[in-house]
Amino acid sequence: MALSGLEIYKNLPKTNCKECGFPTCLAFAMKLAAKGVELSACPYVSEAAKQALEAAAAPPIRLVTIGADSRKIEVGNEVVLFRHEKTFYHQPGIVVRVKDTEPADQIAKTAKEVGGYSVERVGLQLTLDGIAIENTSGDPAKFAAAVKAVKDTATVPLILMSQDPKAMEAALEVAKDGKPLIYAATSQNWQEMAGLAKKYSAPLAVYSKDGLDQLAELTKNIAGAGVADLMLDPGARGMLDSLQMMTQLRRLALKKNFRALGYPIITFPGEGVDSLEEEAATAAQHVAKYAGVIVLNSFNPAVAYPLLTERLNLFTDPQKPIQVEPKLYAIGEANEKSPLLVTTNFSLTYFSVAGEVENSRIPAWLLVTDAEGMSVLTAWAAGKFDAEKIAKAVKSSGVEQKVPHKKIIIPGYVATLSGELEEELPGWDILVGTREAVDIPAYLRSAWSA
Ligand code: SF4
Repeated sequence: MALSGLEIYKNLPKTNCKECGFPTCLAFAMKLAAKGVELSACPYVSEAAKQALEAAAAPPIRLVTIGADSRKIEVGNEVVLFRHEKTFYHQPGIVVRVKDTEPADQIAKTAKEVGGYSVERVGLQLTLDGIAIENTSGDPAKFAAAVKAVKDTATVPLILMSQDPKAMEAALEVAKDGKPLIYAATSQNWQEMAGLAKKYSAPLAVYSKDGLDQLAELTKNIAGAGVADLMLDPGARGMLDSLQMMTQLRRLALKKNFRALGYPIITFPGEGVDSLEEEAATAAQHVAKYAGVIVLNSFNPAVAYPLLTERLNLFTDPQKPIQVEPKLYAIGEANEKSPLLVTTNFSLTYFSVAGEVENSRIPAWLLVTDAEGMSVLTAWAAGKFDAEKIAKAVKSSGVEQKVPHKKIIIPGYVATLSGELEEELPGWDILVGTREAVDIPAYLRSAWSA
């Protein structure tokens, strides 16, 4: 577990010299506990205290990086079991598996699809994270050729899957610049795989289906051999077994500070299930609890999109909702006769409203007010979306010059604001729109006239 401020304080010099920029050692300790400052800011920490603090302050689940360029995957370093306790920081990488027994053009096609896949949601581009290449053939040359086919087609992080050190080295020679994940070290091959991980500075996944004691023994041996960046595959497959196993691993790391199993987990939701639907459902479970990397058996946009959406929802900091810029937006070829709607700057609200306005095929103005990223009802309840704020947005946006009709449509959920808004905007007609965005097209078609 992370150290408390008082536990850190016990290891500090307690001279209150202020050189760290804090008035007291205790203030520094509190900030350090909140991860708001580095230990190195205090020049007077003794070597013994430094070692004690650095070891104890290390995250309970190690941060592991796969890949070397801007699309690298960073996983681990989580500090809570449940998102409502704080937040989840490092979203699981979602990757797609190819096999070296597939024809080269098929491998390249999948690599191109995975590397190029991108969908927009709430103004963000969601992408898949990488490709796992499996040495199904058992042939090192075939494995290396498959890795080359992927590498030549897509610039995404790679996972190399083979338990044969010779095949792994052949593949690493091709992919070494990209810091791929080596999958996997086992009780039979761990010395050779640890040697390869050190030689190529690559992270290493450790596989054992013989229980957590055996898995912990392996990680201790490998860490002792000098490989620090490890991932775990405890061998559990299927929804129930993987849920139990992954919850146990997360609990051991966070609640018991069991360092030997304090590593992110790699999962294979397509193994041990009978259908694509089961694979998708298992992968969805792994997004929530508690995968670091999820390897899908195949590329399928109908599976990828909901998983990426779920991941976005869970790994967005709930204290920092995704927002759009508060301003006046033209939807379509909006002109002086177009309707003017108002909403808040919570991304999901904006994109729902803007999408339905587009669906109406009636060009419109959409005035987005600054409600600190809250949805309409939440912002209204918090006093962030009231008549005064809407009127201020109308005046500062310049929309008065664009719509001489002086009609503004407010969301149906805040119909109660219409009286106050009439007072704030003299000369304007305040129209009450729909409660749900989905009803906007019908409303505009039946109720709007300039
Ligand atoms: S620099 Fe170190 S000794 Fe000085 S006040 Fe800060 S924490 Fe205390």
